[in-house]
Amino acid sequence: MNRFSYTRADGVPDAIERHRANAAAAFIAGGTNLVDLWRENVAHPALLVDINRLPLRQIEACPNGGLKIGALVTNSALAYDPTVAARYPLLSKAVLAGASAQIRNVATVGGNLLQRTRCVYFYDAGTPCNKREPGSGCPAVTGVNRMHAILGASEHCIAVHPSDMCVALAALDATVHLRGKDGARTLPLLAFHRLPGDAPQRDTNLRDDELVTAVELPAQGFAAHHAYVKVRDRASYAFALVSAAVGVELDGDSILDARCALGGVAHKPWRDPGAEAALRGKPLNARTLRDFAAALLHGAHGYRDNAFKIELAARVIVRAFAEATQRSFEEAVR
Ligand code: SF4
Repeated sequence: MNRFSYTRADGVPDAIERHRANAAAAFIAGGTNLVDLWRENVAHPALLVDINRLPLRQIEACPNGGLKIGALVTNSALAYDPTVAARYPLLSKAVLAGASAQIRNVATVGGNLLQRTRCVYFYDAGTPCNKREPGSGCPAVTGVNRMHAILGASEHCIAVHPSDMCVALAALDATVHLRGKDGARTLPLLAFHRLPGDAPQRDTNLRDDELVTAVELPAQGFAAHHAYVKVRDRASYAFALVSAAVGVELDGDSILDARCALGGVAHKPWRDPGAEAALRGKPLNARTLRDFAAALLHGAHGYRDNAFKIELAARVIVRAFAEATQRSFEEAVR
């Protein structure tokens, strides 16, 4: 660990200014990912800007019927908030599928959005890694890649985003609120995270001077028909091999609206609004779901250890729709 300084911010503008004054500064809230990265010699902050006193711990109703969640709300507070549990149970379930109770008690919404991949090479400072050291190479492409991407990867990086929360936020069409030196702006959650392309060192479209201040959910929460299905190697405290967040609105056996975001398959939560639009008006049956899974997984590519994820993802999609609608679509995955 390197030597560092510590400062505590008193307000959002103060935090942004203290952070901007030092090119090697890092914001710290729960610190559950930053401290790991630091211990492994992947992160080297020269200045920690503690943002825990900022007024960003509220969960409040929006005039449009949605809900605004402050960036410092902890995962536990979010998952067990009565309004979130009642109106956005998909989000509660996804949050509770991640990490351990101890981590959820301190990890925050803003930190969850910004957590970095768990690629083993990224955490091993003794190996090359384009994300850690641009231009050094990506050993995962031909190496140990069981947990890696099947969609949206590049020759420069095949890492996946590790969050469960963000998969549900993507399915719910959440918006991210940001504040920087020039003021506030918002980004759709789906535009917040990036695919690796030729710059895998950049996980998100957050600017250097910006702080995540909140996440906003629209009014539609799919409380009646939703599911978060996470397939992993252990029953708890493990990252997803594949996960799916599904919300469905039905008219009898016909689909009025549906969302499906995948986790564990790409550098960002994976959604295809075009494939979802094609579901509208279709009968909810095995054929519809099989076609939808094929569309959502179009272009999927497996590497040495992870080609199984393509079939697994198709099955997880079908299972998530089955759970969400309390139906069985066994024939869709035979
Ligand atoms: Fe680094 Fe990405 Fe390759 Fe992993 S997959 S070694 S994070 S460049």
